[in-house]
Amino acid sequence: MRPGKPPAAPAASEPPPLQPPPTAESLAMLDMPTLRERVLECRSCGLCQGRRQAVFGMGAENARWLVVGEAPGEQEDRQGLPFVGRSGQLLDAMLAAVGMSRERDVYIANVIKCRPPGNRNPKPEEIAACRPYLMRQIALLKPQRILVMGRFAAQTLLETDAAIGSLRGRVHTLKTDAGEIPMVVSYHPAYLLRSPVEKARAWQDLRLAAGF
Ligand code: SF4
Repeated sequence: MRPGKPPAAPAASEPPPLQPPPTAESLAMLDMPTLRERVLECRSCGLCQGRRQAVFGMGAENARWLVVGEAPGEQEDRQGLPFVGRSGQLLDAMLAAVGMSRERDVYIANVIKCRPPGNRNPKPEEIAACRPYLMRQIALLKPQRILVMGRFAAQTLLETDAAIGSLRGRVHTLKTDAGEIPMVVSYHPAYLLRSPVEKARAWQDLRLAAGF
């Protein structure tokens, strides 16, 4: 056999192209299991390229409260669940202090469903691409109130650039397809672990959410 030309090396595999972001209209008829599938397969922003898996949310679908966080961290990305690790333990302790449990009383979701690399802050275009998923979750869950934890989650839901210090400590109203839902803003548990001096304010926020 005559020696031939060596076969060309396979081209480095390119990641699949991104999809257009979801719209409220495109999600409006989806039930929760279908919405979950849509999120797990989503490739509508660059965060899909670095994630292990998207983190949809967890909890009772007839929960009284919806807890909204920011984005998955390393442990959430590994486990596919929101608020795990030390932040999750602190959230569970905070909920227990007002007589609530993660399994029974709350549904937990993030504004951003895929982990930003190195836990960097999410970019405005990533928040804009992912926000319709959270809004559809809210419409399906119809929670009695929403506890928003952290600056990005609060700014996203309230569509403001205001600092968290000026947003916490009072009751806001979120206008949704499911009607108006009272909303309280507080610090993210990860921030409270770094700044325990703020725990007293977070406790005030929880009592506010539990008491009206
Ligand atoms: S962060 Fe949201 S919009 Fe971006 S890929 Fe993940 S699910 Fe899709």
